[in-house]
Amino acid sequence: MTAISLRDVRKSYGGLEVISDVDLDIETGEFVVFVGPSGCGKSTLLRMIAGLEGINAGELLIDGKFANDVPPARRGIAMVFQSYALYPHMNVFENLAFSLKIAHVGKPEIERRVQAAADMLQLTPYLKRRPRQLSGGQRQRVAIGRAIVREAKVFLFDEPLSNLDAALRVATRIEIARLKERLADTTMVYVTHDQVEAMTLADRIVVLNAGRIEQVGRPVDLYDNPRNLFVAGFIGSPA
Ligand code: ADP
Ligand code: MG
Repeated sequence: MTAISLRDVRKSYGGLEVISDVDLDIETGEFVVFVGPSGCGKSTLLRMIAGLEGINAGELLIDGKFANDVPPARRGIAMVFQSYALYPHMNVFENLAFSLKIAHVGKPEIERRVQAAADMLQLTPYLKRRPRQLSGGQRQRVAIGRAIVREAKVFLFDEPLSNLDAALRVATRIEIARLKERLADTTMVYVTHDQVEAMTLADRIVVLNAGRIEQVGRPVDLYDNPRNLFVAGFIGSPA
């Protein structure tokens, strides 16, 4: 089943088109990675799926239903950003529980979901700590945990590792790969400009260039058969 369809989607800012003719189907449970240089429109596309940016033309379908005007909170989507923006005055448990409290989820259910997320991300020993008492990698795991507790059908990640140093980046990438296995039915769309992240995490890679899709395919297919030099430069083996 198709979780997300983009049909001829376009987006302009002040007369400048930054997303052009994007056509893409993302299947339920798939891990799709958007790659491309800075400014090519990766975040804009992700924010359009989340409902944080409007769509100027074309259609967004979520589970086959027209969703261009569905408010973000009704899309069943959770987003993890590059800057993890935790609440500094709340401990890890409270940071994880916050969105559920707002949504009036009952206390035992909050407890269950926070425990499950903490368990999944190996955060259980840190539940009483404040964000400033955590490493960057632990903070980013809390940010990911906030998406998990919502039990969203779709996770969107916008360069979640780019603020981490090299060692933490590897560790957190492994954590995300594990999450992909644990939440196999959850659709995940992941933005990065890092080739290694794309190659190791993706079921399919979407290569973007100046607001357009250059090529879509499995990592091995893009690596072996890049359609052009641009794709080769990003993904392919050196010719
Ligand atoms: P990426 O995430 O691939 O680096 P973005 O989606 O952030 O790229 O940006 C795509 C293009 O749209 C860039 O040229 C950027 O300057 C422009 N852009 C993004 N957001 C806005 C905005 N709110 N107003 C005007 N231009 C924007
Ligand atoms: Mg971006």
